[in-house]
Amino acid sequence: MGAAVPERQTLGRLIMFALRSRLLRGALFCLLILLIIGFNSKASAAPAVDLAELQWQYHWGDLPRANGKPDFSSARDWQAIAYPANPSGRDEQQYAWFRATLPEAQFPEPVIFITSINLNVEAYLDDQLIYRFGDPDKGRFQGWPWHAIPLPEAFAGKQLQLRVYSDYTDIGLWGEAKVMDRSDMLLHVLSSGLHELIVAAFSLLVAFVTLVFALFRGTRKEFFYLGLFSLATAGTLIGENLAMQLVINSPLLKTYLAAVSYFSMPIFMAMLLYQWVNHVTRSSLLKRVAQCHLTYLFAAVALSLSGLVNLAIFFPIFDVLFIVSLVLMMWVTVTALKQLAGSQKLVLAAFAVYAVLLLIDMLVAHSFLPWVDFPIAIGGLVFALVLVVISIRSYVLTNKALAELNLSLEQRVSERTARLQEFTVVEQQRRKELERQNRFNTELENFNVALQSCQTVAEATELMQNRLAEVFTPASISISVAGEAANALPAGQIRLQELEGGSTVVASLSIDGPDPVLPAGWLEDFVQRTAERLSVTMGNIKLREDLQRYSFEDSLTGLRNRRFFDDTLTRDILLAWREGSDLSLLICDIDHFKRFNDEYGHEAGDVALQAVAETLQHHFRESDVPCRLGGEEFVVLLRGADAEAAKDKAETLRAAIEQQDIHYRGKALSRLTISVGVTTLQLPHTDADDLLRQADQALYIAKQAGRNRVEEFSEQLESNVNM
Ligand code: GH3
Ligand code: MG
Ligand code: MG
Repeated sequence: MGAAVPERQTLGRLIMFALRSRLLRGALFCLLILLIIGFNSKASAAPAVDLAELQWQYHWGDLPRANGKPDFSSARDWQAIAYPANPSGRDEQQYAWFRATLPEAQFPEPVIFITSINLNVEAYLDDQLIYRFGDPDKGRFQGWPWHAIPLPEAFAGKQLQLRVYSDYTDIGLWGEAKVMDRSDMLLHVLSSGLHELIVAAFSLLVAFVTLVFALFRGTRKEFFYLGLFSLATAGTLIGENLAMQLVINSPLLKTYLAAVSYFSMPIFMAMLLYQWVNHVTRSSLLKRVAQCHLTYLFAAVALSLSGLVNLAIFFPIFDVLFIVSLVLMMWVTVTALKQLAGSQKLVLAAFAVYAVLLLIDMLVAHSFLPWVDFPIAIGGLVFALVLVVISIRSYVLTNKALAELNLSLEQRVSERTARLQEFTVVEQQRRKELERQNRFNTELENFNVALQSCQTVAEATELMQNRLAEVFTPASISISVAGEAANALPAGQIRLQELEGGSTVVASLSIDGPDPVLPAGWLEDFVQRTAERLSVTMGNIKLREDLQRYSFEDSLTGLRNRRFFDDTLTRDILLAWREGSDLSLLICDIDHFKRFNDEYGHEAGDVALQAVAETLQHHFRESDVPCRLGGEEFVVLLRGADAEAAKDKAETLRAAIEQQDIHYRGKALSRLTISVGVTTLQLPHTDADDLLRQADQALYIAKQAGRNRVEEFSEQLESNVNM
């Protein structure tokens, strides 16, 4: 199937070419001209002796033979007959003799022209064999050629004797029989066959074009059958044509051609009608007719080729069959006539004309009508012309439909293209939006990650102030942190949830310039979402910060606790070693605090601890870190302080505590004193424990020495303590 498509296209181009081609139009025109000439040229009235005018006699049955020749003297019962064909009283006779005396006439090269003879013949002139066609003794059918029996110049007065063999319905001569000059005879044959040949050529051409058309149109089976019918018409005309014998002298072949063509005509005719009327009549009768004729065609060819039956006998049987088929076809078609299209009716009319001509031809062939030079070709011509008309009409209609289809297709294509372009624009816009939205989301994620790494709310707030606006570029968003006045109504607020309940605004986001790409409302939503998202992160930072603070802070005094001190001390020692800076450590212990507690109560003791802590907090530089080591013991790390400075600082602290008033419930309590141990980082490889122990030893000495004093650690002191 696949291969058929390009082939069909090629043929399609071919038919387009054929119909447009000047060559083909020229050929058609020439054929028409020749046709007119052909029909007009009647056989010129050349001098001839018509054998029908002679005194004929016939004799049924073959003559006995003597000396290898028929014994003419043996037959007595010769009877007169008007024309040497079909004498009465045949009675299954297969041989007949005819004889007549040839008249006086002069021809340069005399011949007897006979249109046709049924079937085999031997011609004698005064008992001498002068012509033989087929073998009368064997009886094999050899076709129906025209005959040219040569005569000697001096034929006048001589007797012509014809020995005819036939197992056919007819016996004897058929058509014309004339004595004439050979050249006149040739002209006569040519002119009487010419118009048929032209019609045959025309039919062939039409058949070719129609078949090509059928292939091109694909589904249109009707053109296929019309083309084949036209082909059969051409075949019949060529097969029965007189002039063709001058080209190919093979009478049997010609008769086969005529038989096959003629016998196949009703097949195509019936199939065509079946195509047309099937949907109306729903009858398979026409198909049966076609099948019947197809079977007959095959049977005829097979049986005659095998030599079992002579081909000739299939013609009269076919004629009967054909008449029956014509009646059936007519009957079925008439019932569906109303449903047929104009062009179909035209073809039917052509069929009808052709059928009538064929019927007349049949009657002449079987001698029901006298012989005439009957123009059967007119039927073929009418049919071919009708085909040309409907082919051209169909071609024009197809072209018109194609043009319309083309136009509507173009329109649809342009509509589609426009819609596609619109769609593309929308898609591009949508893609840009998505890209922008993705970018915003990614930026927000990145910012959130950066925010999460902030240790404090203050740090996070600063980051927002500096960097949050970048998340929204190219849209313009202004960020105002708490305390600043917002430029516009905020689109979103980053809030911090307080532990006590309620929330405070950390930052307000307002849209100054929207993004041109984003759909309406999206940026507002996104700002809102950003605010919510960052609020959660800020909440986390705050929580973390609080936890941190609580874990390093002493809850009573608000000073850093022991854990913080341990961390810091180790770090500070390393830092001091690396940077070569000084680092001193004080340990302060409240003197006789137990007693104080005992005297004023534990609660007052707490207040006193807070008071001492307050003094510690304010007494030192911000970089110095006072911590509560536990109980009533405190440590202070003095960064960058050498032993001298540390001792001074410790001394002023001691003095400050000593001077500090402590009030509890509006009552002044007795003042407190502290003992202080001081040490400064000096020896290499001193670690946190070492340093703390040194300070502790100094404190011990201070306590020993009577309290409320500052004692400095020294190596000597260490050895004293250890003693
Ligand atoms: P010294 O001069 O030798 O240091 O005598 P001291 O009484 O201060 O020393 P001691 O170690 O015997 O007693 C420390 C007291 O500090 C015991 C305890 O009641 C008191 N104390 C420790 N922590 C707290 C606290 O958080 N609040 C109160 N009110 N008292 C505390
Ligand atoms: Mg103590
Ligand atoms: Mg104490």
